Amino acid sequence: MDLDDMANVRQEVFTGALPGWKDVELSVDEAYYEYRSHEEGVVADYIPVLAEADPDWFGVAVAQTGGRVHGVGDCDVEFTVQSISKAFVFALVCDAIGHDVIKEKVGVNNTGLPFHSVMAIELNRGHPMNPMVNAGALATTALVPGASAEEQWKLIRSGMSQFAGRSLELDGAVYHSEMVSNQRNQAIARLLESYGQIDRDPPEVVDVYTRQCSLRVTASDLAVMGATLAGGGINPVTAEKVVSPEVCRDTLAVMASTGLYERSGEWLFEIGLPAKSGVSGGIVAIAPGKGGIGSFSPLLDSAGNSVRGQRATAHLSRTLGLNLFASDVDPTRVHRPGA
Ligand code: GLN
Repeated sequence: MDLDDMANVRQEVFTGALPGWKDVELSVDEAYYEYRSHEEGVVADYIPVLAEADPDWFGVAVAQTGGRVHGVGDCDVEFTVQSISKAFVFALVCDAIGHDVIKEKVGVNNTGLPFHSVMAIELNRGHPMNPMVNAGALATTALVPGASAEEQWKLIRSGMSQFAGRSLELDGAVYHSEMVSNQRNQAIARLLESYGQIDRDPPEVVDVYTRQCSLRVTASDLAVMGATLAGGGINPVTAEKVVSPEVCRDTLAVMASTGLYERSGEWLFEIGLPAKSGVSGGIVAIAPGKGGIGSFSPLLDSAGNSVRGQRATAHLSRTLGLNLFASDVDPTRVHRPGA
């Protein structure tokens, strides 16, 4: 069967619901109190300003597709969205240019290499491979509609704000700090240009990409943004339509395979949910049809994923029954010898 033809076959969708809201609130609180004293991991410092983050910050929030949100700890502390923007800008671009174009131009396969790998581009003869690594994210940002970089930025900022259900602001200090230290991203953009993979001016593409990474969000925002992707593209709080259900499906598929960098396989094995992490300590995870989980804690593992955030999400995935790959035995189908 030709997989390229499959995207347009009509799909039925069955997802189930979250447990009762009291149980959800209890699980969120448990996840917070269980892991808040965990101190493994290090704060990122390759973007100089990020090193100033407080290692104690920790917030967890869940939003359901029906609009309820529950957060605990530092769930309203703002931090820069960083790589998590890759998933949402991908969704906006997918909505604008479609499934097939993005699949061909950016790709949806894992590189198995770190997010800022130059080698991955060379190994794949200039193809960015997927939108969750820097090469693919830069190629995706280059595809955002707009006559100028300024127009592209406007579209990104308003689209990301629609996902969050409030107007997101640029963190000027983080943006400037990254712009003077992002030679590697500039090199990646030039390399993509040399392979004919981006049509816009590479420094402008890097500039817009760095701005999208510097938008300020909270763990509660991430939960709502995730719940928008969980609910067919409708923001659960504002009821606004942000993207189509097909775009949500495509975005979650890419997040599942590549959202936690080279740890994505392990993440799926342990937690079983599409997710995306960012280097300032945010993680968004999505339970399709049910809701979104947002977490924030700046202590990162060696791949750049928040340690407390991963543990809190794992706890919620297990206690709320969110793992996409889990099933249970139907007792009426169990064969009992002699019965
Ligand atoms: N803005 C950062 C970069 O491009 C985002 C990286 C991340 O969150 N992993 O390097």
